[in-house]
Amino acid sequence: MTENTRVVVAYGDGIGPEIMEATIKILKEAKARINFDIIEVGKIMYERGYPSGIPEEAWKAIHESKILLKAPITTPQGGGYKSLNVTMRKTLGLYSNVRPCVAYPPFVQTMHPDLDLAIIRENEEDLYAGIEYRHTHDSYVALKLITRRGSEKIVRYAFEYAVKNNRKKVTCFSKDNIMKFADGIFHKVFDEIAKEYPNIQNEHYIVDIGTARLASKPNIFDVIVTENLYGDIISDVVAEVSGSVGLAGSANIGDDYAMFEAIHGSAPDIAGKNIANPSGLINAAIMMLIHIGQGDVATTIHNAWLTTLEEGIHTGDIYSEKHSTQKVGTKEFADAVIARLGKTPVKMKKVNYPIGKNNQNASSTKHAIDTKEKKVLVGVDISINWLSGNQDILADKINALTANANLGLKIISCKGLKVWPKEYGQSLVEYDLWRLRFVPRSNEKNASHEDIINLLNILKDDKLDFVNIENLYSFDDKLGFTLAQGE
Ligand code: NAD
Repeated sequence: MTENTRVVVAYGDGIGPEIMEATIKILKEAKARINFDIIEVGKIMYERGYPSGIPEEAWKAIHESKILLKAPITTPQGGGYKSLNVTMRKTLGLYSNVRPCVAYPPFVQTMHPDLDLAIIRENEEDLYAGIEYRHTHDSYVALKLITRRGSEKIVRYAFEYAVKNNRKKVTCFSKDNIMKFADGIFHKVFDEIAKEYPNIQNEHYIVDIGTARLASKPNIFDVIVTENLYGDIISDVVAEVSGSVGLAGSANIGDDYAMFEAIHGSAPDIAGKNIANPSGLINAAIMMLIHIGQGDVATTIHNAWLTTLEEGIHTGDIYSEKHSTQKVGTKEFADAVIARLGKTPVKMKKVNYPIGKNNQNASSTKHAIDTKEKKVLVGVDISINWLSGNQDILADKINALTANANLGLKIISCKGLKVWPKEYGQSLVEYDLWRLRFVPRSNEKNASHEDIINLLNILKDDKLDFVNIENLYSFDDKLGFTLAQGE
């Protein structure tokens, strides 16, 4: 028999301790070859003054063991606290969030008995980079950051997952009809990598219609790969239509570390009542066992869990008079699973996982950043906080101030809409955040950093409050920025 694996365990907040206790009891009774190493993170650590909810010694344990089983954590609202989940995913390079979702008809009520799919969610980028600004009294900004390399890693992971798990199709969800750069590169990379997997079907949906289809016909999907925010939303939609958010587990996988957790949160509304469904965390623990090569233990627990479900022993969230025989609490559900260790389901399909080093974490190929395209500075967008009138007054002022500068005002936009030069019939607006686009006066010339500094000095001398500067580049003569609507 193999050596025990060290697993770091975080009991979490809200229902966390109850569902973790239930899960660990099952793991121990099933003779999982694990040494549990308990760390304190989350609410208690936020309260002790750790803004990211995790102390040094917990990081040390995670760095040593590389495997983490984590119950949900409550992120305090406001007060500058950072989500520990997001911090861990980014710090440990857990770029892939794998969320298999299955329906268990007729034992768990569902509208979609044939639902069986996996969502592969990008885990480090997107709006979850948490880069936000308040530029004016009226304007709040969140930055959506997508990289080509991050997209390549997650898309490749999704296709590798499909191959290893005998899935037939990978679907990409994005919104590249609107976000032509950020979502555009994600979709483009998907199309490129799909070509390397001719035996796996591929398709793309705009995320809105994709989500609608997912809620109405989830059986048309097999593996879905998507960006961080869309993935977060659609996995709750799928978990809910499969029966309950309390059922699904997830794996956060990187090249070196892996973290396993339920997909739901800390459910403070039902904490401490012994009514939470521990199944999400049990399923996460099953994924962890497969990952650390203990497919035999994963098989025993999963079959016992399926048997418990098909015998109608259900927690409140999935209990129904029609489908259940017994309504139980968290502890009693765990005891029912333990009593069925060694049994296999009669009506549902039993599982059988291979023993040995896992087949789930793909090592990402490390691409160098491709710098072949010629990058040229072609202008600048300077946003200013200005409240003294409409766009015509502002344009006259800026044109007078910058008459001798190398860069001249091309357009003014508000919220992405060109407001100056005005189109026929366009009305005057008053706003507090104006985006001024400057380009070289001569078509022959490119812009320079010095030109931009010169402009900023002119604005500063006139006490204009510039709040944000975005350089405009072209790459091999293709614009590296979007045009304002109407530009
Ligand atoms: P939630 O998932 O905690 O709860 C949503 C609803 O589902 C609630 O009605 C809850 O009672 C129910 N529910 C959730 N898990 C259940 C279970 N196992 N059994 C039965 N019912 C269950 O979502 P929320 O209320 O939006 O978030 C609560 C807190 O959890 C927040 O502080 C949030 O930041 C945190 N959160 C943590 C994680 C994580 O640690 N990975 C994930 C999501 C949310």
